[in-house]
Amino acid sequence: MANAIVEAVRSPVRFLQAMGVSIPIQAELDELEAWWEAEGKAISAMVDRMGTPWLRAYDRFGKRIDEILYPPDYWRMLLKGYQAGAVWRAFEGEGLSATFLIGYVTAFYDTGLYCPYTVSLATALALHKYGSEELKARFLLPMLRRDEGVWQGATWMTEAGGGSDLGATVETVARLDGGIWRLTGEKYFASNAGAELAVVAARPEGAPRTVRGLALFLLPRYRDDGTPNYIIRRLKDKIGTRSVPTAEVELRDSEAYLLGRPETGIYQILEVLNVSRVANSVGSVALMQRAIAEAMAFAEQRIAFGRPIGQHPLMRHQFAERIQELQAAFALAWTTVRLLEEAWLERPPYSERYHLFRLLTHLAKYWTAEQAVQTAKWAMEVHGGMGVLGEYPVERWLREAMILPIWEGTPHRQILDGLEAMARKGAHRQLFTLLASWADPHTLEEMASRVEEHLQLPQEEQEAHAEPLFRDLARFTAETLRRSLGA
Ligand SMILES: Cc1cc2nc3c(=O)[nH]c(=O)nc-3n(C[C@H](O)[C@H](O)[C@H](O)COP(=O)(O)OP(=O)(O)OC[C@H]3O[C@@H](n4cnc5c(N)ncnc54)[C@H](O)[C@@H]3O)c2cc1C
Repeated sequence: MANAIVEAVRSPVRFLQAMGVSIPIQAELDELEAWWEAEGKAISAMVDRMGTPWLRAYDRFGKRIDEILYPPDYWRMLLKGYQAGAVWRAFEGEGLSATFLIGYVTAFYDTGLYCPYTVSLATALALHKYGSEELKARFLLPMLRRDEGVWQGATWMTEAGGGSDLGATVETVARLDGGIWRLTGEKYFASNAGAELAVVAARPEGAPRTVRGLALFLLPRYRDDGTPNYIIRRLKDKIGTRSVPTAEVELRDSEAYLLGRPETGIYQILEVLNVSRVANSVGSVALMQRAIAEAMAFAEQRIAFGRPIGQHPLMRHQFAERIQELQAAFALAWTTVRLLEEAWLERPPYSERYHLFRLLTHLAKYWTAEQAVQTAKWAMEVHGGMGVLGEYPVERWLREAMILPIWEGTPHRQILDGLEAMARKGAHRQLFTLLASWADPHTLEEMASRVEEHLQLPQEEQEAHAEPLFRDLARFTAETLRRSLGA
């Protein structure tokens, strides 16, 4: 393994450079990394251990306020990414990928903190794409501010009945009342609660109880008259992403604005989720890198059987393998960033390119999150007994990693939706065309035949045996894309 890449693993910015991605905001990323090293790391560890947000539901006079309280340092940490351009840069010359560069550096230090930036970005993109000029002037502009007055977004779809089968489980009803929509229902996993805006799934009155009956709405934190627009019932106590308030939210005739059209609502909801899935993949890879970097630092110092543990053949081989997996996972995640950048303004009916983006996004969300969990677990093992102690960072990466496969759609969801993109849209053919320049032709041919054969199976069998196929397809895609970057 080349020394340069091993050294680059210690720093998120150096790793991005080593992977050969274009970095139009080099000075800003260097500054962000330096800040995290000097201040952010300590703030992040403090918030995770003892500064998680809490809810003040009423003021001293018994009035409902639902204020979420954080340590002041949290705001400083959060603001850093917004100011660097975690959202506003999407609408500037550097484009969407610059926001993911900021996300990568952030997630290396605090994977959970990447959540508010992601859901804010997804909200802003939906608003830009589907909001009227009036809505944009009122709600998008404050999201693009570069000072402490910046507004945040959130994306709330999941309800108590479950997040996978939204068509059946979304009970929130939207009623048109004069010129305004009023939403009534409950959102059961509402991350970044307290954000000034959220995009939410709801069913207009009388719409069918299927995914086709869902529409996307913009929900402000406060009503026009300044009173709270929804009730925060409680905050969840989570194993990871502890700095992010994830709430149960009650909507009671809450004021909202329709985005786009009800007929295309489910597509718009999936567009929002797909932005988050791309970011989840980027964050998962950053977490892998962090876990390997921590393991490396430990293995250089810890002596067993007369030498540093990292110099024993078995451990040395494992490090080389992990770094290769990291490069492959990065290549897969970054290809989805590039395709999102090309395709995000598309509307249904989508082009073949968009279906390729969808398939790659399911592969990337599935594969990188699984890899993050495995890498964090391995990094803990490298630390031996020290790895399980709360005093050192490595146990945190395992806690954070465990959330990555679940939110934004579980591995089952990614596998089944990926299968659907292949069966109904033929997205695998585009994928194989994309990979053809770098793949071994024989292996490519074999993989392509396996997919085609699988798609001929009866539906029940297709689903039952989907995992080994999807896993192998993800590994093959990631490994081939790694070669495309010359890594
Ligand atoms: C920390 C955290 C923050 C979150 N924040 C948000 C948020 O801000 N907004 C939001 O909308 N949601 C949020 N979620 C919810 C998340 O998106 C859901 O947890 C996820 O989509 C899965 O839904 P569920 O938990 O209800 O599981 P369920 O849908 O009940 O699924 C349970 C299990 O059944 C499996 N399953 C379901 N259908 C099938 C099938 N056809 N075949 C095989 N297996 C199947 C699932 O994969 C899963 O393993 C958050 C979750 C977490 C953990």
